Amino acid sequence: MGPLPPNRSPVSTGVSHGSALLPLDLPGVQLSAGEVYFLWHFIQGSIMIPDTRRRLRSAWGLCARHSAGFVAAEAIFRHGYLHGPAVLYEDLMERAHRALGLRRPAVSLWAAWRIRATGPCLMCQTGYTAASGGYAPPDVLDRIRHVEPFLAFVRETLPLWSRDVCGRCRGDDAPARCRAHLFQDLLRGRGRLREERERVASIAEHVRRYATSFRWGFHGTDTPADRASLIRAVGWCSGWGPWAALLADRSPAPGPR
Ligand SMILES: [Zn+2]
Ligand SMILES: [Zn+2]
Repeated sequence: MGPLPPNRSPVSTGVSHGSALLPLDLPGVQLSAGEVYFLWHFIQGSIMIPDTRRRLRSAWGLCARHSAGFVAAEAIFRHGYLHGPAVLYEDLMERAHRALGLRRPAVSLWAAWRIRATGPCLMCQTGYTAASGGYAPPDVLDRIRHVEPFLAFVRETLPLWSRDVCGRCRGDDAPARCRAHLFQDLLRGRGRLREERERVASIAEHVRRYATSFRWGFHGTDTPADRASLIRAVGWCSGWGPWAALLADRSPAPGPR
């Protein structure tokens, strides 16, 4: 288990966000070479370092783009075996469930206080951007281009998470809210707290079952709803922008580009 890779004065590749030259360039989910390098180390074990877990907790994971990239990288590098994200989001959604489950006076403000982020995305804070060059070995950069395991996961689960996409993130009148937009609604006294509490309870329950399915003796017990809860959890915690873009694309091309 190594430490998080330092962002040693990342060399800008001059590659802009969304360029076809990015190693991972799907609608809504793009990663630069530097970000692939970071995530490669991240999923090898640095995600388990206590200080990293503390920072992931304070930020409710990573920002929208980096959390989608994390799931994509894990799915691609591990051929759809999403143990690391399942364990992380089991923890975060259990915390969310507790945060929204309390009954107190001025409950909306109290709930808002408990679901606020208290720290930044650690990848953004470390300086990783869509223009970060990096030190990822060529074979790692080649592997991230073979996106089919990630797209297969998205395709399989999409009917079970599309109704959870936050209307504010997507810019429509869908009633669902991600954490950050629920926070804003609650501060204004407009949050649909009961509905969102039920949504979070459902996500927490399914993602717990999904994480359990990786344990010895429970292999194969996960259902499509359990697997879909991972994307529901990532979207709820970090926002739905990348996933809404994938959803809008409708038919991501299979196989490596
Ligand atoms: Zn970030
Ligand atoms: Zn939102």
